[in-house]
Amino acid sequence: PKTPAFLLGAASTTNKEGAKSEDRQCAICLEKMSEGNKETLPQCKHSFCKDCIAKSFQLKPACPVCGVIYGDLKGTQPKGGKMTVTKVHSSLPGYENWGSIAINYLIPSGVQGPEHPHPGQKYRGTSRKAYLPDSPEGNKVLKLLERAFNQQLIFTVGRSATTGEDDVVTWNDIHHKTNLHGGPTGYGYPDPEYLNRVQEELKAKGIY
Ligand code: NAD
Ligand code: ZN
Repeated sequence: PKTPAFLLGAASTTNKEGAKSEDRQCAICLEKMSEGNKETLPQCKHSFCKDCIAKSFQLKPACPVCGVIYGDLKGTQPKGGKMTVTKVHSSLPGYENWGSIAINYLIPSGVQGPEHPHPGQKYRGTSRKAYLPDSPEGNKVLKLLERAFNQQLIFTVGRSATTGEDDVVTWNDIHHKTNLHGGPTGYGYPDPEYLNRVQEELKAKGIY
């Protein structure tokens, strides 16, 4: 597909007729907009061809001209992944009054998109398991993680810092407890600060 013109730096293009004709020219494809194929964004009132702005929103739900954000930002986690949740009776160290929540992530292998380091090349998927206490705060974090997953923020594609492997699915700055035991250095419990920390990491990505 054709690269939208604003990605090539054409967004600031203005023409001699000024604002009046800008009204009728789509800032993405630079063609004249027909009335039937024109979409005006509700907040900033900038207009584009319907198809152009639809494609643009798939990459980023923001006005290509002024940057006003419409909706939640999406990350670079590959599409088609699954997040499943199971609850068990056994407790985590530090949360003896509660059972625990096990999250299973499954991200299949695929081909990298334009948002990844090597577009067109394959990446290797992964499956990961992570744990939360089945406490009120643990369930609050679970809800936030589910939203982050749906916004493609939990994983990304690139080089694994741990294994040095390239073109693999990796964690993306939202830390998970992948072990039941072992404390902070073992990616496990007990770790009294973890639930606060992960909520800060989620907040940094707009999830709160
Ligand atoms: P990474 O090594 O690029 O690191 C990203 C972040 O994840 C870092 O902040 C790091 O501190 C954290 N992290 C590292 N090891 C972790 C662990 N065991 N549990 C929870 N967080 C961890 O990230 P990555 O490439 O996603 O690898 C993280 C770990 O997961 C590696 O030890 C890897 O071997 C392991 N792992 C890999 C696969 C796989 O299929 N590649 C599957 C399961 C587990
Ligand atoms: Zn706008």
